[in-house]
Amino acid sequence: MDAVAPRVGTGGRPDAPQVGDHLALDLLNTEALSQGQAIDHWESGEDVHRWLVRQGIASAGEHTPSDLLQRGRDLRKAVREAIAARKAGEPFDVQPLNVHLEAYLTAPRLQRDAAGGWAMTRLPANGTAASLLGPVAEAAAHLLVEGDFALVRQCEHPDCILWFYDRTKSHKRRWCSMAQCGNRQKAARFRKRNHAE
Ligand SMILES: [Zn+2]
Repeated sequence: MDAVAPRVGTGGRPDAPQVGDHLALDLLNTEALSQGQAIDHWESGEDVHRWLVRQGIASAGEHTPSDLLQRGRDLRKAVREAIAARKAGEPFDVQPLNVHLEAYLTAPRLQRDAAGGWAMTRLPANGTAASLLGPVAEAAAHLLVEGDFALVRQCEHPDCILWFYDRTKSHKRRWCSMAQCGNRQKAARFRKRNHAE
């Protein structure tokens, strides 16, 4: 969880950090803040597709629908508003997220499993952006329904907006990553103390 050396994607930009420990929170983490500057790791449909491949949702080499960037950003906005409101204990409009859930169509498929038995899976009905993003919308809905929002938090560093699901045993996780924000904070405290002395 500590290793977040940014990997550089094919577009030349670093890939979004994978520190959320939940698909819906890593969706929010495709927008970050660095030295007060907003960073969007999604600047093109290919960026979104590459992210979906990293999440194991899409396969590399697949066609990227032309509206994937717009739909991805719309979904992210809907999920961000819902999660922030749920975290704050405030009411929120479920309609924007439901639009994405309703557009997610899958078809059941019967197939042999690895052990020679039978398995039933669901496949996205077609290669539309809505179907590609469907599992992400569904993960967000599950989080809103079943998530323990005491454990859904934002990194405590003032220059960081990343979200995570605290799955540590002690439930005392404070940073998106110790390597990044935890150490940054420690160094700042150390500087302040030395300065005061
Ligand atoms: Zn952070």
